[in-house]
Amino acid sequence: MTRKFAVAIDGPSGAGKSTVAKAAAGRLGLLYVDTGAMYRAIGLAVLRRGLSEDDTAGIESVLPELSVTLRHGAEGQRVLLNGEDVSEQIRTGTVAQYASKCSAAPAVRSFLLETQRALAREHGVIMDGRDIGTVILPDAEVKIFLTASVEARAQRRYRELTERGEAVALEGVRADIERRDRQDTTRAIAPLRQAEDAVLLDTSSLGLTQAVEAVLAIISEKTGVQA
Ligand code: C5P
Repeated sequence: MTRKFAVAIDGPSGAGKSTVAKAAAGRLGLLYVDTGAMYRAIGLAVLRRGLSEDDTAGIESVLPELSVTLRHGAEGQRVLLNGEDVSEQIRTGTVAQYASKCSAAPAVRSFLLETQRALAREHGVIMDGRDIGTVILPDAEVKIFLTASVEARAQRRYRELTERGEAVALEGVRADIERRDRQDTTRAIAPLRQAEDAVLLDTSSLGLTQAVEAVLAIISEKTGVQA
């Protein structure tokens, strides 16, 4: 039986949201939705067209040509850009930076909003992003603000990127994270912030298993549902 409720997990880059959310969703039989992948797909489309990340008018003008959809199957979530599976191509530092810039454009946010809400209407979800508890699913049964120190997040992201074969330096990764934090928290529309009714979870000193258990404990406390 699918237990139908919504869990919103927001927080800054590299706090471990996607890994933790995916594992918790698997344990509870909920659909895991990574909304960052949708912003990344738009960032990739803008990058491929050779537009500057600061060209808001240019970014908004390509939206009518784009379709961004999520497919959920045995292999987890895949993101499709005009039907092309770009799930791997979106995982670079450059695309992340483009995604962050694109996500400040109001038209980009409204372009993705309905797709995200529709998923939560149709399924029990754990949805992660920056504005899920504040804007997309303000009535979510459970809201968690998952964060970690800049140092811990930089270390994790560095490991992730080097394991994927990207040649990066820790200092550069840390600078990217700080820049994205700044961009995501200071934008005018749907800035990253903790919803008033969200539970704060700092994962700086937690391993993956502990972080997943902590999330499951919060969900259980709010909904009575045990993993
Ligand atoms: O979570 P991820 O790092 O994949 O997100 C990439 C970028 O997309 C973020 O830096 C953020 O600017 C943007 N984003 C957003 N709102 C969301 C999810 C991601 O603005 N719900």
